[in-house]
Order: sequence, then C-alpha cells, then structure tokens
Amino acid sequence: MKKILLLSTGGTIASAPSKEGLVPKFSGQEMIKIIPELKNTCHIDCKEILNIDSSNMQPEDWQLIAGAVYEGLKEYDGIVITHGTDTMAYTSSALSFMLRGLNKPVVLTGSQVPIESSLTDGKKNIYDAFKVATSELSGVYMVFNGKIITGTRASKLYTHKYDAFHSINLPEIGYVEGENVKIIGYPSKIKGEDFQLDDKLETNVFLLKLIPGTRPEIFDVLIQLGYKGVVIEAFGLGGIPYIRRNLLPELEKLKAAGIAVVVTTQITYDGVDLNVYDVGIKALKTGVIPAGDMVKEAVVVKLMWVLGHTCDLKEVKRMMLKNYCGEVKNS
Ligand code: ASP
Repeated sequence: MKKILLLSTGGTIASAPSKEGLVPKFSGQEMIKIIPELKNTCHIDCKEILNIDSSNMQPEDWQLIAGAVYEGLKEYDGIVITHGTDTMAYTSSALSFMLRGLNKPVVLTGSQVPIESSLTDGKKNIYDAFKVATSELSGVYMVFNGKIITGTRASKLYTHKYDAFHSINLPEIGYVEGENVKIIGYPSKIKGEDFQLDDKLETNVFLLKLIPGTRPEIFDVLIQLGYKGVVIEAFGLGGIPYIRRNLLPELEKLKAAGIAVVVTTQITYDGVDLNVYDVGIKALKTGVIPAGDMVKEAVVVKLMWVLGHTCDLKEVKRMMLKNYCGEVKNS
C-alpha cells in the first residue's frame, strides 16, 4: 500500500461558520475521518502546516509548503495538499518552479463548499486527489472537479461553480472518473532534471492591470517603492497605449532602473503576441519580455522565482522565455 502525506493549509474545504464568516477550522485528520472510503486506497499521515484562508497566503508560505513537500517526499510516495481555492493557482505554480524534477505526484486540492456541508465538493476533490497521488504521475498538479491540471496552468475562473478551475492554454493532463485516473496529456517533467528544492524568490514583484486612461506616473511610484519586477496585464495580444497618456517612456525608465517588465494579457485564453500590432511592437522595442501563453498566476510567480536567481535583465529574459515545468509553450 502506498504511503501518502496530507499537508493541510486551510481554505474553505477546512472551514466552518464563525461570528465573522467562514474561517478555517478542521485539521487534515478531521477531514480524512469524514471520507472513510479513503482507508482502502493508501496509508495516510496528516500534518497541519497552516490553517488560513488562502487570501492570507503569501510567498513565504509557498516556501514553507515547498519545504514540507520536499521533506515529506523523503518518506512518502506522494503528497496531497489541501488549500483555499482563491490563491491555489499561485501556490501550485510556485511549487512547480520550486520542486522541479519530481518523480512522485504532488497534488493540490480544495473545495467551493466546506467539507462539513451536505453540498460539499470537498469529499470528492480530496478522494480524487488521493487517487492521483497514488497514481504513476509525477509533478505538481491541481485536482478539482475531476480534472487533473498541470500546476502552472491552473486559474480560478468561477467564484461559486464546482468546476472552478480551468487549465489555460494547455489541455488537462487527465481526469478522475470514479476509481479510475485517466491520463490524456503529457506530464510536465523536463527530461534529465534532478529533483531539487529551489525556493529562492524575489517578492518585490508588482502586477499592474491597464485600463483605458492608466496614468503613466504610476510606474514612477513602482520605481520609488523598489520593485524589481513588474508584470503588465496589457490589452488583447499585448497592446500598451502610446497616445495621450503614453506609457512607452515609462517602460524605458523601468529598464534604466534595472526593473524587469513582463507583458501578459487581460484575456484569459491564447496569450500574447506583441509582434502583430504597433501597440505591441513599440512596447517590444523598449525591451519588455512577452509572457507568451503563460497564465497570469504563473507569470507573476515565475518572475518572482527568476528574480530570486538573477537580476541581470538579459538572463531574466532568457529564463522567462524558457519552459521549466510546462508553464509556457516553447517559442
Ligand atoms: N476564501 C477561501 C480560500 O481561498 C476560498 C476557498 O477556499 O474556496 O481560502
């Protein structure tokens, strides 16, 4: 029988009502007790590493979780992590970069409805997560509503619907159907890479969503605040305005200040291509880094991770364009 470690971190799945709304309460052990069918699938040990709403989750917590996974994998065949859904896609991206070369499954899951509710999706999601954690897959995945999603491709698209997460710009790796794990995609492991804990991060990264009329001076504030990286959620294929409130001189200023600028899009699917319109090409000429088909959660986390390794802008660009764990299509 395989040995799986459940790391619990809180979220709706573990929550119960309080005077101030839902708050995480249940430990992993308590959640497992509610799903007796799990007993027949594997040996389970539980460790509570956090018990917070994932809105409170921050980069230092990703490092804590990555460390616990790294330690756990010395003894266990796979890891299940229960997590709040609101920032789970950021955590799954962070773990993917920090724990490359995995030869075992690390599976994140959560739920839209608390596990003690009769309408919960938490029992199914945990059960499915254990099915994947005992499968032959390796790498970091999110399992939700029966879907198995590559850790760097998940995004939460619904606040209420059970099918909350989509796999962006890459098909799901597979599905859990009853007792069966059906794999239809390619796992994210890059050949020849040894398993390592590589959790260095630069947390001074900002995400700026453009609106029609964004004032250029906002970038001066980011420079003053000492940010090292800025992700711009631009329009469409990556358009950045240069008429009236012209942002291009600001991009030059960021470059001169040694700040890495990555351009992604506000559109959920298909990614950016800055070579199509002049509003993209002019931005490209200032040296911005296109995010390709990466999902924005992965872009932000990858920039933190890359800047944790280098602040040389040429090297930042090379690393941002390179595929490390299924996060970007090779151009
Ligand atoms: N606010 C909760 C969280 O992210 C939502 C959830 O888990 O579904 O922790």
